[in-house]
Amino acid sequence: MARINDSYLKLQAGYLFPEIGRRVKAFSDANPEAKVIRLGIGDVTRPLAPAVLKAFHEGVDDLAKSDTFHGYGPEQGYDWLSQIIIDKSYKPLGVDLKISEVFISDGSKCDCANILDIFDLGNKVAICDPVYPVYNDTNVMIGRTGAANQQGYYEGIHYMPCTGANDFTPEIPKEKVDVIYLCYPNNPTGAVATREVLKQWVDYARANDAVILFDAAYEAFITEPAIPHSIYEVEGARECAIEFRSFSKTAGFTGVRCGLVIVPEELTGTTADGKSYSFNKLWNRRQTTKFNGVSYPVQKAAAAVYSDEGWPQVRETIDYYMANARIIREGLTAAGISCYGGVNAPYIWLETPDRISSWDFFDKLLNECHVVGTPGSGFGHSGEGYFRLSAFGDKKNVETAVQRIKDKWGK
Ligand SMILES: *Cc1c(COP(=O)(O)O)cnc(C)c1O
Repeated sequence: MARINDSYLKLQAGYLFPEIGRRVKAFSDANPEAKVIRLGIGDVTRPLAPAVLKAFHEGVDDLAKSDTFHGYGPEQGYDWLSQIIIDKSYKPLGVDLKISEVFISDGSKCDCANILDIFDLGNKVAICDPVYPVYNDTNVMIGRTGAANQQGYYEGIHYMPCTGANDFTPEIPKEKVDVIYLCYPNNPTGAVATREVLKQWVDYARANDAVILFDAAYEAFITEPAIPHSIYEVEGARECAIEFRSFSKTAGFTGVRCGLVIVPEELTGTTADGKSYSFNKLWNRRQTTKFNGVSYPVQKAAAAVYSDEGWPQVRETIDYYMANARIIREGLTAAGISCYGGVNAPYIWLETPDRISSWDFFDKLLNECHVVGTPGSGFGHSGEGYFRLSAFGDKKNVETAVQRIKDKWGK
């Protein structure tokens, strides 16, 4: 019999979303007349922008004729897509990138997971708590950790609690770690990092020969002009950071699938015999061996996101979601509930009234307001007593949900 990868058995059951589904179904069965509003989802709901859809269709039509047909494309993505991303999205930030530093992919979840291929298992990894579970679980699966303790912390990982006490800003490790996951704007807390905070991380990483894995999936939702959209806006980041971006939340590509990874040429790590080696070369080798590129019509659609016609349409949808975020944030605040995020991110992270447990608040919100959200404890130990509401819904539903919460808790 072939041996399995036992590391998978260390994972705790992914119970969060099934458990939410179970409780909502039980409630709906018992209260068939109740109109339940779901603000728990981390998925977008608005359709693709017209210019994006048009380019997508044109890409498909190209495949119908032999003179415009496209077979395998470059594993790293088409140059025309990388170039438009560099020109339209990075240059305006003052960030210069080469096409060879941009790797187009089928999304950030895979990229965040696959990047572990090019790091030695002996590296010490630092992860925020609460966190997007992919960072944690992929490290468990690949065999970097021991078992989980009662708090759900795995042996061997350095966890960085993010709570109201530290303004949801992780403390820079006192000891040496080798790989640091940062996600800004943050899912689930909606927190952002200022340039000063990012600079501290870059300084730490350079002083400790560490690599920052920077997940910028929500950069397009930043509304405050001083907040950096890319870690490369910070001097020195090219020597210590890999950045992930996704078209999923930015342009409604959760079902279409397209993302990108930036691996700067200056970024190096150490070989077993102490020499320095390029992570860009390793990632290129990894992708050319294990990946065959993103489909041509999808890349055409992605390029249209940054076209003169597409970008204002894409922005309009982002603004729609951020208007929802504002309605939620202001409504909760008016009801006397402390909440965070929702200014530069489509998530509102609230403190449960009277600090009841995240799941107790889930039940209360469902039973009394018929509103569904996500218990903060599902994102990690330090998420206990917090709760996530998402702005990716329909405006009318968001307004109704907020009114119900105000009626219940507002004085
Ligand atoms: C949604 C999300 C992503 C994007 O995932 P895709 O695979 O590109 O759809 C990445 N990171 C975080 C934190 C997210 O919430």
